[in-house]
Amino acid sequence: MTDLRPSPPSRARAIGAVVGSAVGDALGAPFEFGEPGVYRARFTDGAGEMCGGGGWDPGEATDDTQMAVLVGESLLEHGGLEPADVFRRFQRWAAGGPKDIGLQTEAVLTGGDPWDTAAAFHFSMTGRAAGNGSLMRAATSAVRYARAGRSATMAAARRIAALTHGDRAAWEGTAILHDLIRIALEGGDPLEVLPETLLHVHVDHRARWTTVLSPSWHPDDATESNGAVWPCLGSALWALRTTTSFEDSLGAAIDLGGDTDTVAAVTGALAGAVYGLDAVPERWTAPLHVPLPGFGDRVLRLPELTELAVALAVDSGSTPADD
Ligand SMILES: [Mg+2]
Repeated sequence: MTDLRPSPPSRARAIGAVVGSAVGDALGAPFEFGEPGVYRARFTDGAGEMCGGGGWDPGEATDDTQMAVLVGESLLEHGGLEPADVFRRFQRWAAGGPKDIGLQTEAVLTGGDPWDTAAAFHFSMTGRAAGNGSLMRAATSAVRYARAGRSATMAAARRIAALTHGDRAAWEGTAILHDLIRIALEGGDPLEVLPETLLHVHVDHRARWTTVLSPSWHPDDATESNGAVWPCLGSALWALRTTTSFEDSLGAAIDLGGDTDTVAAVTGALAGAVYGLDAVPERWTAPLHVPLPGFGDRVLRLPELTELAVALAVDSGSTPADD
């Protein structure tokens, strides 16, 4: 296949990953838990809008982006990953009454257990911790760790995922997403380099991830809802693979139905890194806003998200391998 995608500069790709994820989150939020086909049925001319609904204002980002911002700001303030600090910020946010919070994430953050054992304890008690809740917030840390290389970015992804998700399947999925964003930020094609990334997935989880991320996999092949980590990332890759623009990739993702905000947040992180900020429609970035429950009246919009993305991209260059 001839690759006709433009090649934006790395700064535009880093901003594209962070803003693209936030845009996907806000665009998909009103369609959460809906049936497939609802998005395209609503926007028959193919030009989706930030329409709001389901408790969300037009352009309002959800827990996916809120948690990504918390991770990014912690990484900046500490010059790297301080897991206990990230966990504290998550707890403060959870106590601030966010409109939405993942089931596994909420159980771990509000259970009163120490940061370094809470997720493992929850997993040991329930056997359920492979939700997409660590995947959805990965854009900021992926930008921060990209320049540190594959091993470092995948290691950081696993540690941040493990704060709320005890199942290694979630760690590995988040590590894969980190590496695919890294590849895109360097100007590579994540779909082409994917086989290399898969070689670095934990051996116990490699076969399942290889299946769900293969070019022959279709979201209809999913064996669980896309609230689970495997079909969520599988669907995001499918949306990227089967479209040729940022806008169309999000439309394909949201039209799958189910956990639309998160599938679109993950798709948007990837597609934003591939196509860059200029490919993100202004009619989507203009109403975009990210409230931060638990942190006063703070609301991040495009300028603040841009600043965060640039700071993370620059910060990653000064300490290339702190993991
Ligand atoms: Mg959400």
